[in-house]
Amino acid sequence: MPADLIITDIHLPGKPGQPPLLPDNCIVIHADTITYVGPLAKAPDNGTAKKRLSGSNMLALPGLVNTHCHGAMTLLRGLADDLELSDWLNNHIFPAEAANVNAEMVYWCTKLAAAEMIMSGTTTVADGYFHEHDAARAFADAGMRAVTAQAVIDFPAPGVADPANNIIHAEQFVAHWRGRNPLITPAIFAHSPYTCCNDTLLAAKKAARDAGVLLFIHLAETRHELSMIEKPLGASPVRHLAELGILDQNTVCVHCVWTDEEDLTLLAKHQCKIAVCPQSHAKLASGIAPLETMLAKNIPVGLGTDGAASNNSLDLFREMDLCAKVQKIRHLDPVAVPAADILAMATAGGAAVLNMANSIGTLRPGMTADIILLDYTTPHLQPMHGIDLLVYAANGDDVHWVIINGKIVMAAKTIVSFDLDETMDMVRQLATTI
Ligand SMILES: [Zn+2]
Repeated sequence: MPADLIITDIHLPGKPGQPPLLPDNCIVIHADTITYVGPLAKAPDNGTAKKRLSGSNMLALPGLVNTHCHGAMTLLRGLADDLELSDWLNNHIFPAEAANVNAEMVYWCTKLAAAEMIMSGTTTVADGYFHEHDAARAFADAGMRAVTAQAVIDFPAPGVADPANNIIHAEQFVAHWRGRNPLITPAIFAHSPYTCCNDTLLAAKKAARDAGVLLFIHLAETRHELSMIEKPLGASPVRHLAELGILDQNTVCVHCVWTDEEDLTLLAKHQCKIAVCPQSHAKLASGIAPLETMLAKNIPVGLGTDGAASNNSLDLFREMDLCAKVQKIRHLDPVAVPAADILAMATAGGAAVLNMANSIGTLRPGMTADIILLDYTTPHLQPMHGIDLLVYAANGDDVHWVIINGKIVMAAKTIVSFDLDETMDMVRQLATTI
């Protein structure tokens, strides 16, 4: 059967001991699946493929995986900068959300987030928000892969006026999206241990377990959270969740900045996953996550941008660069968490966090065709002595082509899967009402 797409003349990243760039390679795609990666001369479908794409001057990489985001918060980008987390959240973000978040806003602002992520090389995102049904529609319409998690919180929230209905709402969301669209994987997002009581946390985890989906939770983000949980409960946020029975291989703990050795041993024992968001941690001065210890304990760790209001960019290349550097500062050790480990976190590591390691995050036959092509001939990437440059010098703007699920969604830096101008117009209109 002829291939649907062949990407020719690409460079692939070299493995340790090889040159950084391996020329004259190609990728063959049948439907949504990669069927060949290797020398063009040996490609099985060279000449018969229905569509050919020349990757000349391009480096092919697996699409990046953003393991924590609130896409719709693009509306609030830059609205309340330079504030401490509880002030930022309680006095600015929560009130702005109460007044502005509705189904239409979530759809368009999530679509804007999808555009920003696609254009900077992210092909999969784990999103968590209110009105997540409309976020899922936006990602599906944008052609972007997403784990979409309906938020659960103990106060009236957009789309769920009565918190007593938050679990049933999340269950209905998961039931609606399960198996509906190959790009969308539904999940549940319990906001945090300080905004969800024990009963809510237990019910959210039960709903996630019953449906066989991931549970995301903000956890141990700030020192303030530590005191809020530790004082009344006598346990750290992680130990609190462990005692409740919330932790398992389908729990993704977001942030984990304020975790000690015992906390991380517990997370490793329960096979939990972690998403760290270095830009958000830095901007809100939450701290620096103990990444070296997490990796030493073999905990799957992915990178997240968090929402655009606390970053303020959704470019995962920026996240990689900062993540590597703050770890070196934390340890006063330039060897701490090398660039290769960071790049792995943004690809295969992120896929493992989302239970998708068997389908995305690496370029090899059998994997789903989520591929980005990056122009490595720009001045800031010359000369290419090593692939570490992708972490320390590349940026999202270097990405020219994006393929998700076998379909081209960005061609030569232009989004082709949806009307970006319409999306930006809609978001600008929505922003005038804030
Ligand atoms: Zn978050």
